[in-house]
Amino acid sequence: MEKNGKEVMYEGKSKVIYAGPDEKSVVIFYKDTATAFNGEKKEDLNDKGKLNAAISNLLYDYLSQNGIETHLIEVIDETKVLAKKAEIVMVEVIVRNVAAGSFSKKYGVAEGSKLNNIVAEFSLKDDELGDPMINISQITALGIATKEELKEMEEKTLRINDLLSELFRKVGIKLVDFKLEFGRFDGKLILCDEISPDSCRLWDLETNEKLDKDRFRRNMGNVPESYQEVLTRLLNV
Ligand code: UDP
Repeated sequence: MEKNGKEVMYEGKSKVIYAGPDEKSVVIFYKDTATAFNGEKKEDLNDKGKLNAAISNLLYDYLSQNGIETHLIEVIDETKVLAKKAEIVMVEVIVRNVAAGSFSKKYGVAEGSKLNNIVAEFSLKDDELGDPMINISQITALGIATKEELKEMEEKTLRINDLLSELFRKVGIKLVDFKLEFGRFDGKLILCDEISPDSCRLWDLETNEKLDKDRFRRNMGNVPESYQEVLTRLLNV
């Protein structure tokens, strides 16, 4: 498949992955499309691609300055980055600092409830199955990742949570929860995919106003405006 004269390796809900200039890299293009509920709700939002790209690039720079290895090689333009071609581990790691979303629904706790400890959970990366939650013994039983890899992913995730929570706190934002993906590259596990208001819950520290994809999921309006607010605050840190 080709798009704009380049080979499309994979087209997801919010990004397109093109073949890179060499075997070990890919070009990632951030689309304006927003989706929720496993693709059931879908809409194009002005500038969403470039806002998510800018936020994710800024967060990736910050994480790599703090010792986290990521897939990012360089920024190509407002909506494209050159990234290492990693073999994605087919589980998502979700971290929760405050109860919200599916956790609140599943366990019957009000959104915003304080948690006694940080929650880390895995879900299977499989749209057809609706990304079901999966535990460590199930992941190893299915040969998706080893125990050691999962331990390393969890440790890196908790370090990333500390770093991101601190950065967001500085700009008056509470990092409620977020999702990460990792990939294997040159024998190492590296951070892949994006970190943006599409993959995090971000609430204003003072007012609890939502500045993330829940505005889209819950038809609250001002989606790009809220993403822009997150970017503006991060640029002024
Ligand atoms: N998340 C994500 N991709 C997914 C599932 C979750 O980026 O496929 C993010 C989501 O935006 C939120 C966090 O992970 O910041 C926890 O999501 P949750 O399990 O509460 O699910 P949701 O409410 O999104 O169904």
